[in-house]
Parts: sequence; structure tokens; C-alpha cells
Amino acid sequence: MSRADHKRLFLPGPVEVRPAILRAQTAPMIGHRMPEFAALFARLQDKLKSAFFTQNRVYISGSSGSGLWEGASRCGIRADKKVLHLVGGAFSERWALVSRANGKQVDCLEVPWGCAHKPGLVAEALDKQTYDAVCAVHNETSTGVTNPIREIAQVVRQHADTFFFVDTVSGFLGTELRMDDWGIDVALTSSQKAFALPPGIAFAAVSDRVLERAQTIENRGYYFDFLTLEKSLQKNNTPATPPIALMNAADAQLDIILDEGLEDRWARHRQMRDHTHAWTLSRGFGLYAQAGYRSDTVTTVANTRGIDVAAMDKFMQRECGIAMDTGYGAIKGQTFRLPHMGDVDMDMLNEVLDGLDAFLA
Ligand SMILES: *Cc1c(COP(=O)(O)O)cnc(C)c1O
Repeated sequence: MSRADHKRLFLPGPVEVRPAILRAQTAPMIGHRMPEFAALFARLQDKLKSAFFTQNRVYISGSSGSGLWEGASRCGIRADKKVLHLVGGAFSERWALVSRANGKQVDCLEVPWGCAHKPGLVAEALDKQTYDAVCAVHNETSTGVTNPIREIAQVVRQHADTFFFVDTVSGFLGTELRMDDWGIDVALTSSQKAFALPPGIAFAAVSDRVLERAQTIENRGYYFDFLTLEKSLQKNNTPATPPIALMNAADAQLDIILDEGLEDRWARHRQMRDHTHAWTLSRGFGLYAQAGYRSDTVTTVANTRGIDVAAMDKFMQRECGIAMDTGYGAIKGQTFRLPHMGDVDMDMLNEVLDGLDAFLA
């Protein structure tokens, strides 16, 4: 495929990656036991800690984010204890499945799709039953809901032995998350959402007490075992061969992101969200997510006009060279998503919205 044939991605992952970051992947290869690699790893640690607002270590995994779901569940939940999963969309549902698939005793606290988890309900659940951990999705990419993680963390912290694990796969670097201030024990993310990197690398910031607990847990697996990752991290290294090209891309992208400034980056996402909401409502569509909890990184449009989303995507690819989302899982078609995340800017957003206007006409 030539560059001219490239359809720009307007998807909630993988997202469009800027050319300079694609090029960063083509740097000559280094060996991961060479000092040059340790330097790259150490540089990334510093930048990732800033990005997660944490003093904790950040593991780097040659996998997508799902792998670190497995790592968090296996290393952070004891065999004889239960875990509470907050479920309200496709991704939170799948993380609960992953915990079960790894033999954990899972309870789910469910809210209807499109709704957010309320701290009060979490507090009630924690009063009724003791849990080793609460697992929550920060930004539920299927429904376009951002959960009030900060407030839920306050509730979880009332229970000394209950840890708080957060999937911030599509929130990280697009909307506020402060690991240490908020009291999060594991914050995990992928590369291909608001981070605006190619897929294939994932990151987890992990607290000391998770590692202490992990030492008491058998059958943590190997590839995503936090204790194995920790041993290597102490030497600025990884246990297995890491995705070095993607780490080079992350190194360069974090410079751009930290240079933009995290607060400014969040503000840019908010501004794009407001613009997207205004367009959505003025064109007679609805907003799927509950008011007050609508995501800064992705708007899930309620397809109240009943447009043919497949035809919409086809039109957009043909006329604008842009690939569109057509909804996720159980709400595909009934919704479609407008992702305003990563390196999307107002110009790109307006190009998409103008294209959609042409389709609607
Ligand atoms: C995309 C996504 C995932 C899955 O991440 P992978 O990197 O594809 O494994 C998990 N959680 C959320 C909220 C997501 O948006």
C-alpha cells in the first residue's frame, strides 16, 4: 500500500500516528542487553512516571493492554479472596472475564451501559463483602463514559486491604488521571489510544504494596508476572525481548506530549469533546453516555437518526480518505463513536464533521 492509499484512522484505537513517530521506529536496532537499551529504558521510566503522576515504577510490556489485565489480576488478587469488578461496558466486562479465566473469584457490580459507576454504590458493595481488589475502567471506550475514578478511589481507600486497579487504556494522556494523589495501585494502559502510538506495547504503573502481596501469591504466570518484571526493571531492563522499535516511538512521543503539557493536552481533548457534542446534538443525534460522565477522549453517538453506519464509513473512506468507527459490540450501529483522542486536533475533527455533514446531505 502506498502512502497515498492510506486511510487516516478516525477510530478509538488504533489511532492515527504522526509520521515523525512512525519514523522513530526505524532507528537502527540495539540489543536489549546493551547499555544503550538501559539508557532508553531509564529515560522512558522518568517520562512515564511523569505521565502517570507517580513515584511508582512503570512496567513496559511487549503486548497490548489486555496482557496487563492478566498481570494485575494474577499478581494482585489472592486465591482465597474475592475481587470486585465494576462493569458497565464491553471492556470492563472483558476484564472481569480475564480475572475469571485466571481462576479468580469475581463479583461484578454492574451498571447499565452508558451509565457511570457511582462511589456510593461501590461503598455499599465494599461494606457488604471484603474484597482483595476493585477493578475499574477509567474510560469505557465502548459507551463513551468516564468513571469518577478519583471519587471511587476515596471509597476504596476506606478499606485498608482492598487495592484499586484501574484500566486507563483510552483515558491515559487524554484525560486527567493522577495515580499517587488519587490512591491507585495499578494503572494500566495501551499504546494505541490517546497515547497515539502504534499498537503492541503496554504500560502498567504498580504500587509497592501490590508487589508485597504478589510475593504471597502462587501461580502468577510468567510473562506478566510483576515480580519478574520488577527484577529486570531494577536493571533498567525487561525479562524477555522488548518491542524496542515501539519503545523508541514511545520515547519520542512522550517528549512531544510532555512538551505540550499534560494539563494542556487534557484541555485540548475537552475542547474537542465539547465541539463534538455540539455537532452531535445540532445534527439531531443523541449522546449515549450519561450527562456529567461523558468522555473527553471519545464520544459515543446515539444513532437516533438511524443512519446506515456501514454506508457512512464507506462514504467517508471514499470521499475523505478517513476510516470511521461504526460502534462496538452489543451497541454497534445503534451507536457509532467519534474518537477525539491522541494527536487528533480541531482541523482533523472539523474535516471529519464536514465529511459527515456531506454524507447526511
Ligand atoms: C482498547 C481497550 C482495551 C483493550 O486493550 P488492548 O490494547 O486492545 O488489549 C481495554 N480497555 C479499554 C478501556 C480499551 O479501550
